[in-house]
Amino acid sequence: MVKMTKISINPERLWSRLMDMSEIGEIPNNGSRRLALSQDDVDGRELFLAWCESRGYRAMFDKIGNLFIRRDGTDPDALPLAIGSHLDTQPNGGRFDGILGVLAGLEVLETLDDFKIKTRAPIDLVVWTNEEGARFQPAMMGSGVYCGVLDLPSVLATTDDQGISVAEETASHGYDKGCPPGFQQIERYVELHIEQGPILEMEEKAIGVVTGGQGIRWYDVTLTGEETHAGPVPMRSRRDPVPALAPVVELVYRIGQKDENARATIGKIETRPGSINVVPGQVCLSVDLRHPREADLVAMQEAFLNGICNIADAHPKLEVKAKCRWHSSVVQFDPEMVSGVREAAKQRNFPSMEIVSGAGHDAFNLAQVVPTTMIFVPCRDGISHNELEFTKPEHAAAGANVLLDMALRFANANQDALQLQE
Ligand SMILES: [Zn+2]
Repeated sequence: MVKMTKISINPERLWSRLMDMSEIGEIPNNGSRRLALSQDDVDGRELFLAWCESRGYRAMFDKIGNLFIRRDGTDPDALPLAIGSHLDTQPNGGRFDGILGVLAGLEVLETLDDFKIKTRAPIDLVVWTNEEGARFQPAMMGSGVYCGVLDLPSVLATTDDQGISVAEETASHGYDKGCPPGFQQIERYVELHIEQGPILEMEEKAIGVVTGGQGIRWYDVTLTGEETHAGPVPMRSRRDPVPALAPVVELVYRIGQKDENARATIGKIETRPGSINVVPGQVCLSVDLRHPREADLVAMQEAFLNGICNIADAHPKLEVKAKCRWHSSVVQFDPEMVSGVREAAKQRNFPSMEIVSGAGHDAFNLAQVVPTTMIFVPCRDGISHNELEFTKPEHAAAGANVLLDMALRFANANQDALQLQE
């Protein structure tokens, strides 16, 4: 009988794989650029698959390009525990966002082999396609299709800025010959990821016990007036939408002050046509509202929409509109799995704290269909989606060890089922 805490991953092997992967699509300052379904993304996947094959793991894929790497269990009827994340990056991406979850997953499979441990349930290491949403929208595309949140035909019809469709790219890489999405049923899912925020680092914790994710509302706000010349037309005769921008900005950031957990962001502001001597005909801006409690998020949303109505009333010469572009409900992870992460961190003496994910993850989609949770590790200064993204080797290893413990716990059902070969 092996004691769970005696088994640990190989931190050097994990780190060298992270560094090797970062060379695919390498950009300056240690960054990586592997946009979903691009040749760089596929090259990264090939490197990963070569590592898997060298250990004899079977790989399968579906029509959206999600990869499933199977390590068999002893019970042929047991559904797999799935672990994993994504290998695609932002245009100026880093070495850890997503990649850590996938390569730590591989490290878990190899560690189980190194220690000759059989699990009752199989373990599927999954690489979800297009988590980032940088090239094709929406984000979390592969997991969305897998979970039935997105439908395959409309996803395949999505195009990038060059007019290249997901269907063309999946076909050119042979994924169109894959299994139907959802072919591979799973029992549970756990994902290791960098926090992408500064909280764990500030609190000096190695492990974030992720209890769920913030709910999100995205709006497109348009303020429409009339385009005209900046010189000849007197101020009183204009229908300039820009003065109405100030109260919108004020409204959004006031809502963001609701409480410590509220978030409000205007990420894009555009005047059209955008010329120095033209009174713009339109101002377009994006609004992103988040909160970890659904009731609070609904209150923020109502405050926002009421505020927009008031701004419209105060500017009768303009057309003021707020259109909901996307919404994602608050995510609550499975309590039993959340406790699994908490206990694993405690047994290994890793300082940990509960945390709510501020970023979207594939695990949010999975949580709609199977018991799911996540493990966070700190990243330097909370920076991600940036080539400067960095996670210390000891934190990467701590996260991988907690992932290993989760695999032992949830692929075995109980510790007594842990079997050693010979
Ligand atoms: Zn990610």
